[in-house]
Amino acid sequence: MRDSQGEGRVRAVRVLIVNEVLVHELLPMDACIRLMREALATFSRGDAVQPLRTLVRLPDGSGVLGLMPGYLGEPRSFGLKVVSVMPGNQGTAYESHQGVVLLFGVIHGEPLAMLDATAITAIRTAAASAAATDALARADAGDLALLGCGTQGRFHLTAMAAVRRLRRVRVWSRTRANAERFAREAPVPARLKIEVMATAEEAVRGADLVCTVTSAREPILRGAWLAPGAHVNAAGACFATHRELDTDAVRRALLYTDCRESCLNESGDFRIARGEGAISDKHLLGELGEVLNGKVQGRLSNQDVTVYESLGIAIEDLAAAHAIHQRALATGKGAWVEWSGAPSA
Ligand code: NDP
Repeated sequence: MRDSQGEGRVRAVRVLIVNEVLVHELLPMDACIRLMREALATFSRGDAVQPLRTLVRLPDGSGVLGLMPGYLGEPRSFGLKVVSVMPGNQGTAYESHQGVVLLFGVIHGEPLAMLDATAITAIRTAAASAAATDALARADAGDLALLGCGTQGRFHLTAMAAVRRLRRVRVWSRTRANAERFAREAPVPARLKIEVMATAEEAVRGADLVCTVTSAREPILRGAWLAPGAHVNAAGACFATHRELDTDAVRRALLYTDCRESCLNESGDFRIARGEGAISDKHLLGELGEVLNGKVQGRLSNQDVTVYESLGIAIEDLAAAHAIHQRALATGKGAWVEWSGAPSA
């Protein structure tokens, strides 16, 4: 790259490398929730560029590589996430979501940072659900049902505890032993004992806060089980062919999402219910950012059921990467690689 004086010298580009542990050190949950609020509000004001993600599917159906590029106006960030999704990794030493977030300079376009996408995906998804919960759930919500006890289950528990005082936590997972391990190991205050339930229905009945965070392809949550006033973060099904919510759960809810275009095109929860004729596009009331910006109304009464349909969008990853890059600059943490040579003497 030429220097600003145009003297033809090569300017050093230093790229920051951030691994999983450092992502969590530099971006704690509370900070990430504030960041997701700001990023989603900026996105819904239109100060962002974000095409629908591109998916490359392995021919045998075992996995997907997702490319998620974007630009966000505030915090100003530019780059992409490349993430593989391999559901078969469950029970192995590998996470189901692995990849990198690449951050670029907005003025000169130089690479700035390469960050672990497993950690960023885990925390930003749960933090966005927390922002949704804060905006859409009842103020007194605190009876939590977690459906799914994998990575997202762990992070959603922390995220929900950050925005509501939890009174009760019930968990269900397809494999009971996983739910039992989760209950033993989850970092919750001593006053809370995590209850492992035999069925999803037992976990959900009477709850006022529900998180669906599974890799299910068929509904695991039925609308008939939802108590009046419940809020649901539906974060697990983010492909057009997958769903966690049955048609009744979608139909009876006030429905919000992170990105309208993504929901209409990529959400099985939404598209399958629409395909059955139960809802039309108008059923989607708006984006979380529009609620945060005061452009769209949230819940109208304590009896409404609200659903936040989370697809997971690139600007969330970029905002997180930008914040971590700033923290690394401020603290000197992370590994820095000279990318394009040092300046000439
Ligand atoms: P993990 O592999 O860590 O956990 C998967 C969870 O799903 C486990 O609780 C597992 O249950 C459960 N599960 C798997 N298959 C089924 C099934 N057929 N029926 C019911 N439950 C099932 O994955 P993550 O926690 O990382 O991700 C969970 C989901 O969230 C995935 O679908 C993922 O794509 C999605 N996701 C969404 C994001 C977003 O932005 N909205 C971001 C990141 C992930 P058990 O182990 O007990 O069998």
